[in-house]
Amino acid sequence: MTSNTGGLDIRVVGGGVIGLTSAIALAEDGHRVRVLSRDAADGTTSAVAGGLCWPYRIQPYERAVEWSVRSFQVLTALAERPAETGARMVTGTMTATTGGGADDGLAAWYDAVPGLRRARAEELPEGCAWGWRARTPLVDMPTHLRYLEQRLAAAGGTLERRGVSSLEEAGEAADMVVNCSGLGARDLVPDPEVHPVQGQLVVVENPGIEEWSVSADAGATDTTYLLPQPFGLVLGGTARENAWSREPDPAVAAAIVARAAQRFPQLARARVLAHKVGLRPARPAVRLTAERLPGGMPCVHNYGHGGAGVTVAWGCADEVLRMVREVQEGRGPVRG
Ligand SMILES: Cc1cc2nc3c(=O)[nH]c(=O)nc-3n(C[C@H](O)[C@H](O)[C@H](O)COP(=O)(O)OP(=O)(O)OC[C@H]3O[C@@H](n4cnc5c(N)ncnc54)[C@H](O)[C@@H]3O)c2cc1C
Repeated sequence: MTSNTGGLDIRVVGGGVIGLTSAIALAEDGHRVRVLSRDAADGTTSAVAGGLCWPYRIQPYERAVEWSVRSFQVLTALAERPAETGARMVTGTMTATTGGGADDGLAAWYDAVPGLRRARAEELPEGCAWGWRARTPLVDMPTHLRYLEQRLAAAGGTLERRGVSSLEEAGEAADMVVNCSGLGARDLVPDPEVHPVQGQLVVVENPGIEEWSVSADAGATDTTYLLPQPFGLVLGGTARENAWSREPDPAVAAAIVARAAQRFPQLARARVLAHKVGLRPARPAVRLTAERLPGGMPCVHNYGHGGAGVTVAWGCADEVLRMVREVQEGRGPVRG
């Protein structure tokens, strides 16, 4: 995209992966951007994410795949500097015990990932009917969030630890608001369609597993995944609709380790380094639209990315930038 001469004063609500990537896209385009975040980066859902770039539990699939393909390109480039950005290219297998995997709405994703192929029978875990082999970005999220904050600062953007109780309050003395508040949008907008899908993970000492593997049946409550991160091997997971607790459940953790140990028996004895729980900001469809708040302030909403916020963030940030440009050029949005 070309750079922008007469930048706007923009407040971005949310300092997770969605808010930071949106803020970076805007600041690097010449806007004066301030991020307002109630939580420090390590207290966000984004910090808990396993960090695999693959569209999962997000709607609408067609748009999500477009955004994912764009993010894939950005993260692939960032993976050239893994220590700084947290992104690495890692090979792995995506499988499921049901379905055929061909008509799952992800055809454009399969076309876009270089070298992606059907897994051979001997590459599939026991009980899995089908699978894909691919080399995709795997993102160490704590490192990545630090990188995003630094990149925002380098582009002149600022970050303030502050909760806001309305979008109008966030936009005081600014030209525009971008709402990337994730699950917070439920109260802030307010939008009752946003709800949590709780996910629990166990981080263990890695006994030498170098590839990622995911077995996730559509809509299943329990999934089995292993993601080798620099800080440990991440074992997952769960997806519990409308569960609000952020407390790890010991029984759930034991079941996660047991599922992983069915694949790699040595994991039954692996030292546990951390337990994590995060609330995916789910919505029947991602809300990525522009509107005018009741007082007339233009607002771009970018929330509800469910289980794929890391995967789609850069594609959504491009959309935010496009909508902000439309506002700047007087092409919308109309007063709601
Ligand atoms: C266990 C688990 C594993 C996952 N694995 C993956 C994966 O492998 N790949 C993938 O792509 N995705 C994954 N996800 C999903 C991903 O984590 C989310 O989609 C993503 O983090 C959403 O980002 P976000 O920025 O919208 O939300 P968040 O990271 O929750 O950030 C929301 C921000 O808004 C701020 N905020 C909210 N309300 C207010 C307010 N009123 N005032 C000021 N600030 C406010 C918060 O402080 C925070 O900064 C996983 C999620 C979980 C739980």
